[in-house]
Amino acid sequence: MTDAHDIAGNIKSKARELGFDDCRICSATPPEAREREAFQRWLDTGMNGTMSWFERSKDARADITTRYPWAKSIVVVRKDYAASRPELPTASIGERTARYALAHDYHESLRAPLQALQDAVLALAPTSEAKALWYVDTGPLLEHSYSQRSGIGWTGKHTLSLHQEHGSYFFLAEVVTSLELPPDTPATNHCGTCTRCIDACPTRAIIEPYVIDARRCISYLTIEHKGSIAPELRDQLSGYIFGCDICQEVCPWNVKREERDGPRPPAESQRAPNIEALILDDVLKLPDDKLDSLLDGTPLARTGAVRLKRNTLLVAGAEKDTTCFEGVAMCIEHDEALVREAAAWALGGYGGTERAIEARKQLASHQRIESEPDVREAISEALARLAAKA
Ligand code: SF4
Ligand code: SF4
Repeated sequence: MTDAHDIAGNIKSKARELGFDDCRICSATPPEAREREAFQRWLDTGMNGTMSWFERSKDARADITTRYPWAKSIVVVRKDYAASRPELPTASIGERTARYALAHDYHESLRAPLQALQDAVLALAPTSEAKALWYVDTGPLLEHSYSQRSGIGWTGKHTLSLHQEHGSYFFLAEVVTSLELPPDTPATNHCGTCTRCIDACPTRAIIEPYVIDARRCISYLTIEHKGSIAPELRDQLSGYIFGCDICQEVCPWNVKREERDGPRPPAESQRAPNIEALILDDVLKLPDDKLDSLLDGTPLARTGAVRLKRNTLLVAGAEKDTTCFEGVAMCIEHDEALVREAAAWALGGYGGTERAIEARKQLASHQRIESEPDVREAISEALARLAAKA
C-alpha cells in the first residue's frame, strides 16, 4: 500500500507537471478562531459590499467540513501571472487594468489543469471511496488561510497571499480531498513594520492591517460593483478601469522579486492582443455587443461592456482626458442610464479646459430629453461644475 508521504509527493510532482508553480498541502481543519472572527466581523460591518456570496458561503468558509464532512486535506497550488506589463500605449486597456487581466480568464485557463490534478489525487488514492474537488477563487474557502497554513504564502496587510521569493502576483487554487496527507510547514509572516500597501492605497480601503473595506477598494468598485460609483471615490480610481495593483506594486517583496528576476510580462500564449491595445476612446465608442465579444474569454468579461464604459468614463473625467472626449460625449446618448450618468459626470470634469464649451453643449442638449431622474441630476451637477470653472 502506498504511504501518504509518497501520495503527497506524487500529487506535488503532478501539479508541477501540469504547470503549477508550487503545490503544498495542509489539513482541512477550520481556520484559526481569530481568522474566523475577523471574517465574521468583516461581514457584519458590510465590508463585503454587494458580494453576497461571502454571506451565503460563510459557514463553509469558517469550516469547510460543514459542507464536505469528508474533507481531511487541502492541496493548495500557486500559479504565477504576469508581474510586468508588455509595452503598450498609455491610453490602452492593457495599461489601465490589473496585471492579472492581461491574459485569458484564469477561471477558464486553470480549469483543465485543476481537473487533471483532481483526477490525479483520486487516481493516487488507496481506495475508490476517496473524494476530491477543485476550486479556483470562487470556492467556499478562506483560501488565504489555507495558503498560509500550507506554506504557499502568508497573508499580507493588504489581505493577499505573498511569498518572500515569489511576491504576490499569483493565483491560488485548491483541491479539497478526503485523503489524510502529511501537511507542509506553514508560512511565516514577513510584513514586519512595513505599511507601504496601507499608505499607498488611494482610497484608504485598507482600513487597518489585514482588513479591506471592499466598498472602497478600486478592484471591487471597478469589477464587482454593479451600480453607480460613489461621487467621492470617482476621481480616486487612479487611472484603473478594471482592478487595481497599487498595493502590490509598492510591496517590497514584489520589488525585490523584480530586481532579482527582472520583468515577467504575460506569456505570449496567454495574451489577448485584441483587447490589450484598445485605447480608452475605443472602449467608449465601440457598440456594446462588439465590445462584449472582444472581452469574451478574458477577465474583463466579468465587468462587461456597460460597466467597463462606466469605469472608463470616470477615469476620463477625472483625468480630463482629451484623447477620448469624443467617446465621452457619445456616451451621454447610451441606452443604459448607468453609462449616461457616468458620462454626465465625466463631461462635468472637463471644466477649465477648451473642451468645456463642447461639454456644456452636449449636456444642455441631452438635458432636454433625459427621462431618468438620477441622470438628470448628474447633468445638473455637471453643468454647475462647468459653470463654476468657466
Ligand atoms: S487594490 Fe487598490 S484600492 Fe484595493 S486595497 Fe489595494 S491599493 Fe487599495
Ligand atoms: S507592502 Fe508591506 S505590509 Fe503590505 S503586504 Fe507588502 S510587506 Fe506586507
